[in-house]
Amino acid sequence: MLINFPAKIIIFMLTVLESINLSAEYLNKKGIDSPKLNAELLLACILSCKRLDLYLSFDRPLKEDEIQNYRELLKRRASNEPLQYILGSVEFYGLEFKVNSSVLIPRQETEVLVESVINSADKEKEYNILDIGTGSGIIAVTIAKHLTGSRITALDISGDALAVAKINAELNGVFDRVSFIKADITNDNVFNDKFDIIVSNPPYISSSDYEELEPELRVYEPKFALTDYNDGLSFYRSIIGSAEKMLNTGKRIYFELGAGQSASVKEIMEQNKFSKIEIIKDYLGIDRVITGEMNC
Ligand code: GLN
Repeated sequence: MLINFPAKIIIFMLTVLESINLSAEYLNKKGIDSPKLNAELLLACILSCKRLDLYLSFDRPLKEDEIQNYRELLKRRASNEPLQYILGSVEFYGLEFKVNSSVLIPRQETEVLVESVINSADKEKEYNILDIGTGSGIIAVTIAKHLTGSRITALDISGDALAVAKINAELNGVFDRVSFIKADITNDNVFNDKFDIIVSNPPYISSSDYEELEPELRVYEPKFALTDYNDGLSFYRSIIGSAEKMLNTGKRIYFELGAGQSASVKEIMEQNKFSKIEIIKDYLGIDRVITGEMNC
């Protein structure tokens, strides 16, 4: 296996192709899904090239320091550290975002949430938007990129997450239209002004479901970004309950939902002056986004 490259192999140098094959075999033995893809992406990261560029340099010998660095990344992946944290960046809605273990890894489902906001907005208008629990900033930054007249407030309880979100706002050229607030939405009465749109992908996994998650998620992703340590609905109750203070009349809230939560969240919204409620499904047909209008 590559981790224990015999010395003579290092001396004779491995080519790109040979090291990919050995590494894929190693990751496969360690039970990693898509071992070849993982091996290729990690090598591309070491060689600072695109994955497909590796195919043009299969015969290129790896230098000793490249092999050393590759071994380190392979070891991390073999112990189940998520690929996204090792690579340090992900693509979301066609944009690049930096990630580290302070933030939730962006999920494809969240594109449904972002798309719902972008598609129902009037591109010419200037909205004042609040993203609650911004994490890596994918929602705030992507919306700022598409609704170019809007101002976004990105809120998170974690200063480390906000540091990542700021980097991503900079990286995607929207830093001047996104402001960052460190606050706990469930305790702090943080806002004087009101918003036109509130959007949130809150921690919605219940504490019992959290215990059932794969170890890869539980060990590496921040727990407070995944679960509310309760029944999964706490943040919906809390945000919807205080929406009147934060949302202009006739304006909308958008939430991502966990599987099976749409009926409960709809009920909470109906009990709190929300109407015109719509539910949007994801690519798998699961109710993934809920949106409603506030009327006082
Ligand atoms: N808003 C970020 C995302 O959707 C973080 C969400 C969270 O930490 N619960 O990925």
